[in-house]
Amino acid sequence: LVTRMRDFGPTIFDEMSALARRTGAINLGQGFPDTDGPAEILEAARDAISSGYNQYSPLQGYPELREAIAEHQARFYGIDLDPDREVLVTVGATEAITTTVLALCEPGDEVVTFEPYYDSYAAAIALAGAKRRTSVLRFPDYAVDETSLRAAFSERTRLVLLNTPHNPTGKVFTRAELELVAALAREYDAWVVTDEVYEHLTFDGVRHLPMAGLPGMAHRTITISSGGKTFSTTGWKVGWLSGPEHLVTAARAVKQYLSYVGSGPFQPAIAKALRLGDDYYEQFRAGMQAKRDLLVRSLQETGLVVQRPAGTYFVLADVAPLGATDAVDFCWQMPELCGVVGVPVSVFHDDKEAARTLVRFAFCKQDDIMREAVRRLGTLQ
Ligand code: PMP
Ligand code: GLN
Repeated sequence: LVTRMRDFGPTIFDEMSALARRTGAINLGQGFPDTDGPAEILEAARDAISSGYNQYSPLQGYPELREAIAEHQARFYGIDLDPDREVLVTVGATEAITTTVLALCEPGDEVVTFEPYYDSYAAAIALAGAKRRTSVLRFPDYAVDETSLRAAFSERTRLVLLNTPHNPTGKVFTRAELELVAALAREYDAWVVTDEVYEHLTFDGVRHLPMAGLPGMAHRTITISSGGKTFSTTGWKVGWLSGPEHLVTAARAVKQYLSYVGSGPFQPAIAKALRLGDDYYEQFRAGMQAKRDLLVRSLQETGLVVQRPAGTYFVLADVAPLGATDAVDFCWQMPELCGVVGVPVSVFHDDKEAARTLVRFAFCKQDDIMREAVRRLGTLQ
């Protein structure tokens, strides 16, 4: 069919998880943890089912969740939000992204984003009939190239779709990089939509900086996050967006016809999760940093060139030393070759050459499983 979605097949994440299930290979592909989130949060969802959260929630989301989101933004970033007017609960960050792009873009508008980009960005932009303009981040340092970023902007730029900490590169944007994006957004009078789902996954003392916290940016920024990553509940699909009232209202107008509302009982549970003490957030971060170190070190020991991510739960490795010439083919063959699944990075690029032999491995997995996966990769040499 010749439709706006003609270029989109099944997402790589679903394909690679299906491949892992089919072959029994170790799944370091799709980014989801193989252990559940905190027991008290799981209990809170069960309690919610027992205490009447089983019908439609309000369109904006339950008030206790919106209040917890506003409190979270104030607590971690000093950002003030009115939970009734400036917060909208969505079905994961995915719906927040699609809703916002559909709400803010007209056909023919341009959306600036970095590549590699999270796959749903390309789809949301296509659904809106808008055009994607990208600036390439290059392995292994992934620094922003000002010239190419500037060249992506034009009179038709409607919004910038930013992601920090960044999937799949693990990059955490610096203040200077964010200020450059902000300055260009102001110069071209564009909105910024910022996907911050990995906001609590930054390592080595690096801290996440929200775009909405930069001077003069709150009124032109929609911030998106999700409980899935921070509380290891990816299947609950509780996400949210926040920003100035007129932008949130525009997003709500779209969201109500995509899903109306999401699953009710998970909302009070995520409200409780957001209010967990600092010790939860610090332990979560420290635990994931240790997993990053384990995966990076063991991949390096097998002779691979690996980028050490400052954030997210993904590591990129150049698999050329394992005999790969194209990571897409290699990832399809890996289960048979060595019983491991990873994700080829070129699927997140328009410029496929920028990532021809790069594979993304997720480290939100149990240590023994990661050790075994790397042992198996080592047998390819
Ligand atoms: N944005 C990024 C960068 C992601 O990695 C993901 C994957 N979880 C999402 C958005 C989607 O989040 P959710 O599962 O809450 O829809
Ligand atoms: N965000 C996860 C990843 O990058 C997957 C989410 C999804 O499958 N849609 O692997």
